[in-house]
Amino acid sequence: MILSDLSLAQMQDYVKGQGLPAFRGKQLFDAIYSAKSFDEVTNLPKNMPQEIVESYPKYKIYRKYVSKDDTIKYLFAFDDGNIVEGVLMSYKYGHTLCLSTQVGCRMGCKFCASTLHGLVRNLSAGEMLGQVLLVNRDLGGNGKERKITNLVLMGSGEPLDNYDNVTTFLKLVSAKEGLNISQRNISLSTCGIVENIYRLADDGFSVTLTISLHASNDLSRRKSMPIANKYSIKEIIDACKYYFEKTGRRIIFEYVLISGENDKDENAQELAYLLRGFPSHINVIPLNKVAERSIKGDNREKCYEFAKKLEKLGLSATVRRTMGEDIGGACGQLRNKVLGGEK
Ligand code: SF4
Repeated sequence: MILSDLSLAQMQDYVKGQGLPAFRGKQLFDAIYSAKSFDEVTNLPKNMPQEIVESYPKYKIYRKYVSKDDTIKYLFAFDDGNIVEGVLMSYKYGHTLCLSTQVGCRMGCKFCASTLHGLVRNLSAGEMLGQVLLVNRDLGGNGKERKITNLVLMGSGEPLDNYDNVTTFLKLVSAKEGLNISQRNISLSTCGIVENIYRLADDGFSVTLTISLHASNDLSRRKSMPIANKYSIKEIIDACKYYFEKTGRRIIFEYVLISGENDKDENAQELAYLLRGFPSHINVIPLNKVAERSIKGDNREKCYEFAKKLEKLGLSATVRRTMGEDIGGACGQLRNKVLGGEK
């Protein structure tokens, strides 16, 4: 356990259990939400119980890369030496942070660099929160002043494969006494772990659900996403319909255009058959080059053509802007470079 795993009430209970008054819990909470290191906290007594000192978060920004388009890629380091990455995208309306939920990933998607070394471990709720707090501070914010407006759970890891920690994180980051980021401003991206989509709806969460679909039929999806051997597209869409009924939130489908595989007219027609009439949106994504993978992406022009075809068939579709290509924008790319010793 690290202290950032705890809500304010839990933190106060925890310090009381260590023989301290509850207000020390609030002081620790404020320091953690300002992303201060323990040495920077000046209002705590010198002789704090060792257990508290040891469980104070020690995560930090390990490296930071700024792209020509002002996208910032962060590498975050944890106590045990593990590293994950996050991407900050700045828009007119605010700052969106894409963060990681696991070190590595065991889902094995063929177009993704995050899964090349499998799953190393789950991140705790407090380690996910730490990524947000560190970047918030880097932008000049603190526990009281929030600079980050939107979150995307789309870095390394499959969020619904780490369900308990991810949902605890969602509660922490949206808590009024914390950063108070509304769940409506949070997107959770999943390859489609069906039972946990139902669970998320039943547990009362209202984040935007984003499905990494990337294929218009099961046969094609199985070629690039091993999870497709477990769940059919129809099962995923049924779960999405349930999520929509419970939350009223439109579902986003991500579709990386892969040359010769999922970019044909028949693919557009299959998508229309699956999604027409369902409140959803399709993001057509130019494939980021991943040196370790051999799949070829389609260029932007082809993506626009494909999105137009979908619109003609009655679907809502746009091409996603690619950001930070010069700094390893695809998930897992930068971490792999740094772990491989490449600068
Ligand atoms: S795309 Fe997502 S689910 Fe698939 S391997 Fe990469 S991180 Fe895991």
